[in-house]
Amino acid sequence: MRKDGSAPPPESGSSVSPDRPWFTRRSTLVVGVAALAPAALAGWVLTQVLAGSGPDGQQPRPLPASHAAGSPGQRDAKSGSTASGSPTAVATTPAAAPVPAPAPAKGPLAGKTVVVDPGHNTGNFKHTDEIDQQVDIGTGHKECDTTGTTTNSGYMEAEFTYDVSQRLRAALEAQGAKVVLTHQQDRPWGPCITERARIGNEANADAVVSVHADGVSAGSRGFHVILPAKVKGGAADTSKIVGPSRELGERIAGNFARTTGSAPANYLGSGTGLVVRDDLGGLNLSTRPKVFIECGNMRDAKDAAQLTSPEWRQKAAQGIADGIVGFLGG
Ligand code: ZN
Repeated sequence: MRKDGSAPPPESGSSVSPDRPWFTRRSTLVVGVAALAPAALAGWVLTQVLAGSGPDGQQPRPLPASHAAGSPGQRDAKSGSTASGSPTAVATTPAAAPVPAPAPAKGPLAGKTVVVDPGHNTGNFKHTDEIDQQVDIGTGHKECDTTGTTTNSGYMEAEFTYDVSQRLRAALEAQGAKVVLTHQQDRPWGPCITERARIGNEANADAVVSVHADGVSAGSRGFHVILPAKVKGGAADTSKIVGPSRELGERIAGNFARTTGSAPANYLGSGTGLVVRDDLGGLNLSTRPKVFIECGNMRDAKDAAQLTSPEWRQKAAQGIADGIVGFLGG
């Protein structure tokens, strides 16, 4: 991330040494300081060099409070929350930049309710009998819930979805939304897909997002957003949500691509990043605008490298949040 040419050359007669080309990229203020106090500057320069802070050292790095506060993403330590990011920002920024407190009930989402559904549950693996129970999704029957996938190194989709959901909640609350999570890893398994849908319905949610990551063959890459098909049967009737859900999904897909730099899936959706399905109980039973997002493919090494990165997950959450803000007219 070079920013050459952003500062004027040092004035002639300045004490700035020409053999430090990186210095010329610093601000004019620094140049002024250099002219006034070369000795002090030398000390400052040394400090910066020793601390490893380069020109990017002051770049904002939005790590959420929820992560720093030791939220349930306990496996983040394993995946290297700092090692996977830029080491330059660590320890040099005075007192870890104050976390912006969410503005209570202000912002573009004030008065809006968003339900966030972390796909699966880390305990589902141990409760296969329970989650295999068949539930009525209106158009048919399906398993109550599924285990989800993992990366090849064992990072569980359910860990991923919960971590992103926590970050998403923080981002949405910062915009003034009321956020309801369908579960908080506070139960041994589930909830069933029927209950996940019901939570969104009963909250009268303005938007619902179910967070997932896919588990398909290596080489399949990218994200996709799943939109509800028009279905009718039993308790399922999506006729009223098909339109707004598509708009929600398009907003999320566009913003997700922007914040993460990820491309739409290369293995389905014809490059649009959008897929319509009629077989998901969580969509069929929803009466509120709702989409799923498959953030990437956990079985592809390149996608997995992103999915296991806390910084990437923050970008993912921000993209989803931005899409919701756009959808809700922020
Ligand atoms: Zn999933």
